[in-house]
Amino acid sequence: MKTIIKNGMVVTSGSTFKADILIQGDSITSISSDITPEPSDKIIDAEGQYVFPGGIDVHTHLEWPLMDTETADDFVSGTRAAAVGGITSIINFTKPKKGASLIATQEEWIEKGKKSVIDYGLHAIINEYSDRVLEELPILAETYGVGSIKLFMAYKGEMMVNDLEMYKIMKKAGELGVITNVHAENGDIIDEMIAQALAEGNTDPIYHGYTRPTIMEAEATGRALAIAEAANAPIYIVHVSCSEALEKVVEAKKRGVQAFAETCPQYLVLDISYLDQPNFEGGKYVCSPPLREKWNQDVLWNGLQTGMISVAGSDHCPFRFHDQKAMGKDNFSKIPNGLPGLEDIFSILYHFGVHEGRISLNQFVEIISTNPAKIFGIPKKGDISIGYDADLVILNPNGSRVITSASQYQNVDYNAYEGLEVQGIITNVLSRGEVIVKDGQFIGDAGRGKYLHRNRRHNRDSLFHSPKNDQATETIR
Ligand SMILES: [Zn+2]
Repeated sequence: MKTIIKNGMVVTSGSTFKADILIQGDSITSISSDITPEPSDKIIDAEGQYVFPGGIDVHTHLEWPLMDTETADDFVSGTRAAAVGGITSIINFTKPKKGASLIATQEEWIEKGKKSVIDYGLHAIINEYSDRVLEELPILAETYGVGSIKLFMAYKGEMMVNDLEMYKIMKKAGELGVITNVHAENGDIIDEMIAQALAEGNTDPIYHGYTRPTIMEAEATGRALAIAEAANAPIYIVHVSCSEALEKVVEAKKRGVQAFAETCPQYLVLDISYLDQPNFEGGKYVCSPPLREKWNQDVLWNGLQTGMISVAGSDHCPFRFHDQKAMGKDNFSKIPNGLPGLEDIFSILYHFGVHEGRISLNQFVEIISTNPAKIFGIPKKGDISIGYDADLVILNPNGSRVITSASQYQNVDYNAYEGLEVQGIITNVLSRGEVIVKDGQFIGDAGRGKYLHRNRRHNRDSLFHSPKNDQATETIR
């Protein structure tokens, strides 16, 4: 059977045009101004609607252990929420148990991911250095298609690696064409500030914000970029939350470092005042880096607009309020860090970005789909083009909805964006040609998602035509 999406306004990172899209099997086989259907063809009428390439969220923590608990969404509930929200691929983080091999960990997580309703890739977290890591990296890259790893500069004792360990790992990764995700916050100093706050009896969620200052994010960001430069390795700074950290990325890009930055919807829309609410309500908004002073939002939007920030990822790391976040009721350092966001990232970026005029439609596609595919080496995704996977999102720009936990698919008891009205309604979502969301309702099956075996380098290098160019803004986009 063939499917034809008729009369939609097709939007890619490069252009916007009215066209019909023919889908056969998993793939797009024709894009043309008027495709004549055969009687057996399935027709989706997209008149008056946008047709986007499916969103790719490269920052999710499904089934992820943290601070003696585990995130509230598994690969079924999480990917279902993703699909309804316009995300058709994720890259989730693995997490090795203490002393476990990276290969065994990868196998274990591929298995967990098999329940997914959309395609899923995995970034390999390295939370402990040993020489074995250097031996396993080439196997991960070549046999398992793992084109990206992740290192933490915070969470000492649980995940943090030191500078020398980072250098050794990044050097090996760079040789393999593997990109390193870095969580950049100065873990040593933050831990000391947390201990001081608690010793002074300051236990409320707002102290989570006060003990992780922007300067400690910026310091670690600058240090990570310098290490990447010395190691001649590509680097991706996850969840850039503030102006000072973004400045470090811009400086590094100008030096020719193969550096990319990501930000998240929570840093674009929410601010530190959310942490400072009575009755522990602030606990809902504890994530790291913390929410920042509101003025940073304009700087981050500008970073997206100028191409200094390449990607928006959700950092979906959901914990229930009533029993999981509550673990830190009397001690902010015991509140599991993370926010739910996978279901709404596409809508929030569209509303606050495109609808409110901060970024163009094409930039939106670049940030939510094309750049993630290029940077993380996902073949045949991130664009609407012949031969590409038919991962498509149809959005009615004339409708609006109010975000609420009452109707969400995410398996948590709150929504960080509760009550926000966003323009644009996602009506249909296709994953490799199959309609998995129809009229806003999820109709797909668990287990249909495929593991994404990724290409190293892929198109990433195309984002750096002229790395030594001082006018980095012109070369990234
Ligand atoms: Zn994260």
